[in-house]
Amino acid sequence: MKKTAEIVIIGGGMAGLATAYNLATMGMKDIVVCEKSYLMSGSTGRCGAGVRAQWGTEMNCLLGKASIEIFENLNEILDYEGDIEFKQGGYLLMAITEKEVEQFKKNIALQNSLGIKSVLLTPQEALDIVPELNIEGILACAFHQKDGHANPFHTMIAYAEAAKRLGVEINTFTEVTGIIVENNRVKGVRTNKGDIMTDKILIAAGAWSRDIGAMAGVDIPVRPERHQILVTEPVNPKLGPMIMSFAGNIYLQQEPGGEFIMGFGPAEHETYSVTSTWDFIETMCKKAVRYLPYMKNIRIVRQWSGLYEMSPDAQPILGKADGVEGVYIATGYSGHGFMFGPITGVLMAQYILGMPTSIPIDKLDLGRFERGELIFEPSVV
Ligand SMILES: Cc1cc2nc3c(=O)[nH]c(=O)nc-3n(C[C@H](O)[C@H](O)[C@H](O)COP(=O)(O)OP(=O)(O)OC[C@H]3O[C@@H](n4cnc5c(N)ncnc54)[C@H](O)[C@@H]3O)c2cc1C
Repeated sequence: MKKTAEIVIIGGGMAGLATAYNLATMGMKDIVVCEKSYLMSGSTGRCGAGVRAQWGTEMNCLLGKASIEIFENLNEILDYEGDIEFKQGGYLLMAITEKEVEQFKKNIALQNSLGIKSVLLTPQEALDIVPELNIEGILACAFHQKDGHANPFHTMIAYAEAAKRLGVEINTFTEVTGIIVENNRVKGVRTNKGDIMTDKILIAAGAWSRDIGAMAGVDIPVRPERHQILVTEPVNPKLGPMIMSFAGNIYLQQEPGGEFIMGFGPAEHETYSVTSTWDFIETMCKKAVRYLPYMKNIRIVRQWSGLYEMSPDAQPILGKADGVEGVYIATGYSGHGFMFGPITGVLMAQYILGMPTSIPIDKLDLGRFERGELIFEPSVV
């Protein structure tokens, strides 16, 4: 393991690896990634891996749209011999309350103004896209064909291999246990395998980011929230888009291999627990069958859970810490860090290198919480 580095990136998930790769392509040398377990052991290896541009805040729309453009070409960009399996079957968002219909109209106007070609559909029109959808209780739908789904494991292997080819050192089972700060400047990180001297760190530690921030004396208001998810046996492809309801609290999609992946967002207390429950399976099955009655004959093969890294306004925290020189932050994705990963990797690399960012990220800085400049994202499960 290197003893000195130009930057130490803490976290071997989507945020850390995508930023490491982009920093290396932009010319930074001596990039070291420290991951306390195996790569993708955090949320990235546990996620639903849906990718969408249909959001309710301008910032999230821009991040989603730009990431989709990268996902479309990611095999080539990363020179990956495998396939990240990016399938663009769209997202069909279902409104079940009048308030949601109004919100969808606002969202679509915003999205269209940013070049995202989403449309509002009647429930009857939604049947052209998902003929087996039970439209009872659905008042309207929003649809964007370019949204989709990728394979998170292939995506991360592709980033990690590309980063390594460019000289990035990736240390797994290397836990950061402390940050050395002198005179309000980062001087290094302590790990279970020894110290690495550096004047820059990137906190990309997902749901654990608050703990890492505390090691440097920086408060990052990210809390862990357990989300459960399950996968079924593979069956013949039937479902094109991801179907999702915010008020109904469900997302459900079919992978290219035929398995259905689905989850919902129970309100849970702050926890690092990633255990699974029977209650989840029972409620999940009822929700799935309510929208797609044919699901009742499909068997579940596995369930697991992972952590959302929730920020107070459900939008990412990108930038640096005021007060301690050399602390950069890419976290707080609030359950959407897989899809935002490709573009935030680019933006964080530009930012760390002092270049203008291709999308302005100043509104996503850590200071917004103290300034009270939160813009709440309404379109989350
Ligand atoms: C059930 C579920 C479904 C989801 N579905 C979607 C979806 O459909 N689309 C989407 O975009 N997102 C989804 N997400 C969210 C997505 O998984 C996360 O937002 C994203 O993976 C965050 O990536 P990250 O790199 O910031 O964090 P992580 O992948 O969690 O990586 C952080 C890493 O930091 C490491 N770490 C922590 N502490 C230390 C330390 N002290 N030293 C060294 N390393 C440390 C951890 O081990 C971890 O590997 C879902 C999440 C869950 C749980």
